[in-house]
Amino acid sequence: MADWPNLHVSQHPAVRHKLGILRDVTTEPKKFREVVRELSWLLGYEALADARTRPLTVRTPIESMDGEELADRIGLIPILRAGLGMVDAMLELMPTAQVWHLGLFRDERTLRPVEYYNRLPDSATVDLCLILDPMLATGGSATAAIEVLKRWGAVTPVRIKLVNLIAAPEGVDAVTAAHPDVEIYCAALDRQLNDRGYIMPGLGDAGDRQFGTGHTG
Ligand code: URA
Repeated sequence: MADWPNLHVSQHPAVRHKLGILRDVTTEPKKFREVVRELSWLLGYEALADARTRPLTVRTPIESMDGEELADRIGLIPILRAGLGMVDAMLELMPTAQVWHLGLFRDERTLRPVEYYNRLPDSATVDLCLILDPMLATGGSATAAIEVLKRWGAVTPVRIKLVNLIAAPEGVDAVTAAHPDVEIYCAALDRQLNDRGYIMPGLGDAGDRQFGTGHTG
């Protein structure tokens, strides 16, 4: 396997268990959305492992103590439309995060991303950006989203992380080559892409499977 120091593939048994349900072609959209949400929670937990905290005094029913609160200002960037299903879980984990929707669709002919919606605020008042997209396939959308964020001002010391459910080696290669500073968190690294740009074995089209549209790849 290639050496990708920026890639974190979850090794948690609960993640592997849930991923099996997600991949199963017989899993209906309601269950699929539920598991996307649960996996997002678990991956968000891992992606936040190095987030900064600041000290806080907490008064328990017994006494006061030194506690901590999350200090990093976090922006969640779901890539429409499949990334939407990851937002609620992330907000449960980081209730003060802002959500900035970014619409990128994949031109099925060129497999290149086309930006059609962008709700980033005027300036980059954030410490950590988490890009949410269930599938890292060619890396085209991820790379485009990172470029949008960097142009907007998400540059050092602002950190950008990518949270995906399933990644393909081709996508990891593309993101790593263009943006080695971006860490990638995923539940699985699959084998390869097929000639239509779908991840194998993957789970089909993550948008269709969440929203009950189309067929599954
Ligand atoms: N997008 C998906 O939803 N699935 C894939 O396999 C690749 C891209």
